[in-house]
Amino acid sequence: LVSRRLARFSGAATLADGRPVTLLANVGGPEDAAAAARLGARGVGLFRTEFCFLGNTEEPTFDEQLRAYREVLAQFPGGTAVVRTLDAGSDKPLPFVTTGREANPALGVRGFRTAERDPGVLRRQLHALAAAAAGTDTQLKVMAPMVTTVAEAAGFRELCAEAGITTSGVMIEVPAAALDAEALLRTVDFVSIGTNDLTQYTMAADREHGALSAFHDPWQPAVLRLVRHVAEAGGTVRGDDPTGAGVGVCGEAAADPALAVVLVGLGVTSLSMTARALPTVAAVLASVTEAEAARLARACVGAPDAQTARATARDALPVLT
Ligand code: PEP
Ligand code: MG
Repeated sequence: LVSRRLARFSGAATLADGRPVTLLANVGGPEDAAAAARLGARGVGLFRTEFCFLGNTEEPTFDEQLRAYREVLAQFPGGTAVVRTLDAGSDKPLPFVTTGREANPALGVRGFRTAERDPGVLRRQLHALAAAAAGTDTQLKVMAPMVTTVAEAAGFRELCAEAGITTSGVMIEVPAAALDAEALLRTVDFVSIGTNDLTQYTMAADREHGALSAFHDPWQPAVLRLVRHVAEAGGTVRGDDPTGAGVGVCGEAAADPALAVVLVGLGVTSLSMTARALPTVAAVLASVTEAEAARLARACVGAPDAQTARATARDALPVLT
């Protein structure tokens, strides 16, 4: 059933009763962006900018950055591009940002934390992003990775404003940020939940550690409860304005069609994923109503463990079989 609907993927998704869900692509650079556009994506929900510069020993110049960002934005005229500032550190060392060895790199100076010591790299990246978006009709939104506190979010918003970037957000990858989602959403324009890291930090299980994969599972009810908390904060801050306080998910969880239904049922407003997954996720979302997704989400949040949550959702979605 899913495969018969693939051909009809149009870049947009609606639930069976017509509620729209924003579907976007995760990309790592211009080639990915072109491939995503070919697959029908209408925008980007996570541009991992560090992927463009992983081999660099020196900071990329303004012109190098401008070129890469322009090429990505150019793939989505009239669409949106959520660009993440360099997520350096931990599993992605960038020699021009990160220095030295740390005993616990995943708990160390990574993501937005690198800017506290030296905001220069971030400032220059933000200026290159603003320049890349100038004169295009792609809506630029910029977000910071690994944000933990409201003070960091306020600092990031300030840096974005100084660069002329008017829409700023933060990733929710740390349980503290999930718990403080309402205050974060009153500080920046949107949040995007990175379920890969949020699962790692909630379950205290290294995302790269094969022996811990049962812990590192976004179906873990504790992770789902944190997602629900963030989604509800979005609803509270949005109030009657459907365009405000967006709560996205851009971790791998969004590419699992059954989990995508659950995330939408929890109140998440947009999903960003590897472009290959977009048609299937759209087809599965189209098979459920908003009330059905919400009911399923409640059942999964209340499940005793990840396996039960996953099985509950899959059994309730005949479109997947
Ligand atoms: C995440 O942590 O879920 C995320 C999207 O960021 P990355 O996978 O690049 O750490
Ligand atoms: Mg992450």
